[in-house]
Amino acid sequence: MLTVDKVQVCYGKSPAVQDVSLRVAPGETVLLLGRNGAGKSTLLKSIMGLEPPCSGRIIFQDRPITGSSPCKIARQGICYIPEDRQVFSNLSVLENLEMGMLAHKKKLNRHESLERVFEYFPRLKERLGQQAGSLSGGEQQMLAIARGLVSKPQLMLVDEPTEGLMPILVDETAGILRRLRQDGVTILLVEQNYSMAMSLGEDLSVYFMEKGRILKHGDVKEFQAGFDDPDHWMKM
Ligand code: ATP
Repeated sequence: MLTVDKVQVCYGKSPAVQDVSLRVAPGETVLLLGRNGAGKSTLLKSIMGLEPPCSGRIIFQDRPITGSSPCKIARQGICYIPEDRQVFSNLSVLENLEMGMLAHKKKLNRHESLERVFEYFPRLKERLGQQAGSLSGGEQQMLAIARGLVSKPQLMLVDEPTEGLMPILVDETAGILRRLRQDGVTILLVEQNYSMAMSLGEDLSVYFMEKGRILKHGDVKEFQAGFDDPDHWMKM
């Protein structure tokens, strides 16, 4: 579904992503791990068209999207859930979800799309009229994922959804990601919470980034075998 081929992304003259290649197959959840500053968010942004690569190719569903605008990429079926959530604080929960629906290239059935999302996030249904900015951090995170999901994306790019969440909400987020996976939603997930990431399934494909490059690639099992104390290692 997604092929990233030898991509390089620079901020000015400094390369933040170098020679990165990865693949995401339909229905797969792929993990992108690495420490702070490794280049994970930059890679997601480059796929979404927010930081276009200076070299390399990005192919989505057999079409090149390298250098396309974020709007065009969203209409092709990719949604991006940024690290810092970025919900529309002054809009209600419902209005945020309606904004998400605009990203789909066809007019979506409003009722059907919302009900599908409420199956994953029942709490949002109880708060439809509430201003998004007044939700708790965890609820805002759920809203950010829901706003992406409501657009019926072919591929979700999810950047550190558990950052700053209490352990109970980390577990809840992991549960939602597992469920999305079971339901065949394709996800490229950036995480720094190694334990949570590893709990998503043993057969998940994992890429580990360091200093802008892919240092390791394997499945969760192979990956775990390579680390004595992964939690410690990730935080170094
Ligand atoms: P984190 O988890 O902390 O977000 P990351 O792995 O996602 O880390 P990036 O945010 O992609 O890493 O950053 C990769 C490198 O690019 C870092 O050295 C960072 O300082 C730099 N960088 C990121 N955004 C910008 C920017 N807008 N302008 C200049 N340099 C940037």
